[in-house]
Amino acid sequence: MENPWKIAQQQFDRSAEILGLEDWLRLKLREPRRVIIVSVPVKMDDGTLKVFTGYRSQHNTARGPAKGGIRYHQDVTLDEVKALSMWMTWKCAVLNLPYGGGKGGVRCNPKTMSTGEIERLTRRYTSEIFDIIGPEKDIPAPDVNTDGQVMAWIMDTYSVLSGKNVPGVVTGKPLDIGGSEGRNAATGRGVYFTLLNYFRNKKQSIGARSVIIQGFGNAGRYAAMLLESAGFKVVGVSDSKGAVYNQNGIDVKDLIRVKAETTSVVNYKEAEKISGEEILYKDADVLIPAALESAITYANADRIRAKIICEAANGPVSNEADKILQERGIIVLPDILANAGGVVVSYFEWLQNMQSYYWTEQQVNEKLELMMKTAFDNVITLAEEKNITLRESALMIAIKRVAEASKIKGLYP
Ligand code: NAD
Repeated sequence: MENPWKIAQQQFDRSAEILGLEDWLRLKLREPRRVIIVSVPVKMDDGTLKVFTGYRSQHNTARGPAKGGIRYHQDVTLDEVKALSMWMTWKCAVLNLPYGGGKGGVRCNPKTMSTGEIERLTRRYTSEIFDIIGPEKDIPAPDVNTDGQVMAWIMDTYSVLSGKNVPGVVTGKPLDIGGSEGRNAATGRGVYFTLLNYFRNKKQSIGARSVIIQGFGNAGRYAAMLLESAGFKVVGVSDSKGAVYNQNGIDVKDLIRVKAETTSVVNYKEAEKISGEEILYKDADVLIPAALESAITYANADRIRAKIICEAANGPVSNEADKILQERGIIVLPDILANAGGVVVSYFEWLQNMQSYYWTEQQVNEKLELMMKTAFDNVITLAEEKNITLRESALMIAIKRVAEASKIKGLYP
């Protein structure tokens, strides 16, 4: 796999060059402000002790506290977390949220751990990063293999250590403890809005456009549901165990049931079973990578047949792949715009926590739609004006905003 941190830094360097950013800002913004590496000792169910490695990276806080998810995965690395934190800085800036970027992760395989082991790991990891997180410092959220329950344990641990209830320390919480309506579906809903915005902008109808989705977790599942309800035809879906494809369409509700009952989409019967790799190369109008980084690289970019790639995952397309796709006329709706629905509703959750006043799902979705549309319009307008890609445009808007904030604040001391 290509190193995501190298990819993120190259993207930054290129955009900084186009923007003509001053040297001191280039040097400052191409590194994370702070990274912390912690050992997380966990007593396993069989009585043995295992020590996991945890990370938290805060890339930038010029526009507000750091914000970004926590990932549990056996392949988590420091470089991955650093890259994801830089992308969070840009994502929050494109959406004009008062946040910087952060990301965290623990190198573990939660699929082989019991609920009790995951809870103990979460609580110990939280206590190790306690000093650098908080509603005004750095606010974690769910990412790959973490969910509302994990957020609840983080909030509880942080609250116990603080001696008071602190719901605003994490977002993506269950509703009963201060979560927001609409947060679970928010990333998928943002992907859906981005595609609708794109087709509307191009004055193209949705028709029965076909969609392939790589990854059927939080981001992929809700995107599938919403797109199907708008008339799109979901023809292929994969998860870590393989893929299913049916050119006549897959019933998304049924697929969700099969995944819930059997843990994988591959057990869905009304479709052809193929490999997770093959599904990427099938015919479709839209391909939505919603799993991990570097799904599309220089090694396979020329095999993609979709006309539009909408990045629900962070960093699924490498820089070399970006170039190949551009040459082939394939449109990429970039992650820092397309998957920002999650962090937008996280921002709404944080606001509701501060005010102890809660909004309806309709209010949340309407505000999300408006923010996604404003950001989309800004990105596409600049892209057309400068004849650049949507990723270049989104990065330029974001980096300019962060650079402006850094410049106004100046350098301490
Ligand atoms: P998740 O854990 O809910 O789901 C991940 C899915 O990807 C699972 O279905 C898993 O089986 C699948 N997967 C893993 N490896 C795969 C592979 N090689 N091929 C096909 N499928 C594979 O995670 P999520 O929260 O949906 O996150 C997915 C992506 O979306 C990540 O890049 C994440 O950073 C990004 N994202 C998530 C959010 C959010 O709010 N959850 C917000 C923005 C971006």
